[in-house]
Amino acid sequence: MTQDTHKESFTFQTEVTQLLDLMIHSLYSNREIFLRELISNASDAADKLRFEAATDDSLYEGDSDLHLEISVDKEAKSITVRDNGIGMSRDEVIDNIGTIARSGTKAFCENLSGDAKADSQMIGQFGVGFYSAFLVADRVTLTTRRAGMGAEHGVRWESSGDGSYTLETVEVAARGTEVVLHLRDDAEEFLEDFRLRSIIHKYADHIPFPIKMAHSDEKKRKKGEMEVVNQASALWTRPKSEISDEEYQNFYKHVGHGFDDAHSWLHQKLEGKYEYTLLLYIPKHAPFDLWHAESKSHVKLYVNRVFIMEAGDELLPRWLRFTSGVIDSSDLPLNVSREILQENPAIAAIKTGATKRMLGHLEGLAKQEDDSDYTAFWDQFGTCLKEGVVEDFSNRERIAGLLRFASTRSDEQRVSLADYIGRMKQGQDTIYFITADSLEAAKHSPHLEIFRKKEIEVLLLHDRIDEWLVQHLTEFDGKKLQSIAKGELDLSGIAGGEESAEEQKRKKEQTSKLVEKVKAALGDRVKDVRISNRLTESPACLISDQFDISGNLERILKQAGQNAPEVKPILELNPDHPLIIRMNLQLDHADIETWSQILMDQAILAEGALPEDPAGFVRRINEMLAK
Ligand code: ADP
Repeated sequence: MTQDTHKESFTFQTEVTQLLDLMIHSLYSNREIFLRELISNASDAADKLRFEAATDDSLYEGDSDLHLEISVDKEAKSITVRDNGIGMSRDEVIDNIGTIARSGTKAFCENLSGDAKADSQMIGQFGVGFYSAFLVADRVTLTTRRAGMGAEHGVRWESSGDGSYTLETVEVAARGTEVVLHLRDDAEEFLEDFRLRSIIHKYADHIPFPIKMAHSDEKKRKKGEMEVVNQASALWTRPKSEISDEEYQNFYKHVGHGFDDAHSWLHQKLEGKYEYTLLLYIPKHAPFDLWHAESKSHVKLYVNRVFIMEAGDELLPRWLRFTSGVIDSSDLPLNVSREILQENPAIAAIKTGATKRMLGHLEGLAKQEDDSDYTAFWDQFGTCLKEGVVEDFSNRERIAGLLRFASTRSDEQRVSLADYIGRMKQGQDTIYFITADSLEAAKHSPHLEIFRKKEIEVLLLHDRIDEWLVQHLTEFDGKKLQSIAKGELDLSGIAGGEESAEEQKRKKEQTSKLVEKVKAALGDRVKDVRISNRLTESPACLISDQFDISGNLERILKQAGQNAPEVKPILELNPDHPLIIRMNLQLDHADIETWSQILMDQAILAEGALPEDPAGFVRRINEMLAK
């Protein structure tokens, strides 16, 4: 891009304007957060400079005393937040301020409802950042120069938050960024020194850089002296016992770009082959982009308190991507690059260790007498854990221990595999489950009939991801997991409600001709027809062969536009059902073929799916009713 020294006007990306409007309306009562956000950015900028300067000392330009300054001009009614951090080039200003590069922003904006309360929660998940300046200002001027570039490369950005901004190239002697907020009339309270100090105290004590303001001593102030107004100690380096919940929560808002409080956190110092400190947070609500392919955890890597980079998948597995926080290690070189990170044995050990600690943290929550914290977590992030079972082979059993399901005992997703095993019936050595595309369909599935009769609990899996989960989770605690809609069912070892083998054999023989007739009628709609030992009320149901994909998975794949292998179901008939008994007595009836087709279509409907030819089904039913 060529250097333009003249003033140029730009328009904001549409989404920025939308977000600004929304933010100003929904966050009005919480306006003081503008200062937290600006300090957070300034502190990140100082972190970035310290990191870059570790390999190129000249970036300090002779001034390595990194700090922030906040000043007030009562006459001009303005507040200035200044940092001597990394600064921005012209291109960076264009990319960072005035554009929101995060993927999914557009979809996010489209989902906004216009209801201030609901939207403010949404914007909380999104994070407000720099734009929060417009909560208190009707004009914002940002002047910046990137470290290492000459004074002539300074840039001034200005906007009234009305959809456009101007940009001009200006001389800036000192590197870093200065943000001037020209306050709205109704925001003059923020010109008061004590008000600003109390906000800084509340939100920025833990910022690891000193924040300076005009001295409180009149004489010194007149001489232009400043004083540090925050604690300026990195929170994670302090002992746990000395940190209040409020301080932890405030730090979360900085490091996790969170708006709500965190759900919980884990703060630990680990010693051993590698030494490191973890301070990891779980949010209360799933971030809006949790399901975007690029979504990553926001864990900041520090080496001896020097910020190195925000690492995603390098420090935690993908299934923990909702986590944010800090990992500080003393076992890494300061000039570590992302490539080195991926191959570094210390990083690999830290990743393994951090994952285990997070598992321990979650297990701790799950074990509590009152497990409402765990339940709240599960409702937001349960699906991520299921992903973990699939992807994180080395932790599979432990993650599986954290899963919760609905079952024939409880509609709520509260049954753990261990609970299930603890309640297994005498003689039962298998964990039974059914998959369906909704809880209702699972609950009313005909496959459950014999299990109800024998009082055997069945897990009701109705999340899309469950089909994928059970392909990988085939065993837990030495017990096999088995779909009750697949393969032959053998419940003979479990006491109660079942007829003898002879009885079954007799019924099979008595209906063998009917089975042949139905099979002939259905032709290649089915792989086989057989007599069922799982039905007590319904006339028929569909089964998948042991190693075929289930009907539910086939439907999921087709809906997703993917190629599903052509598999045919097995139709099972209930020999005790009046309809089947009647068919068996009238094997040569002219309607036997129609009856067979209806049985098949009904079994498909009972799975919550549609017959291939719904109109044909309706026609056949009406034909039979008319008779
Ligand atoms: P976020 O901080 O969540 O990325 P912001 O809107 O607050 O979002 O800031 C956007 C980007 O602008 C930052 O990521 C950073 O690159 C840049 N930026 C903001 N403030 C500063 C600053 N004081 N110094 C340097 N860069 C900054």
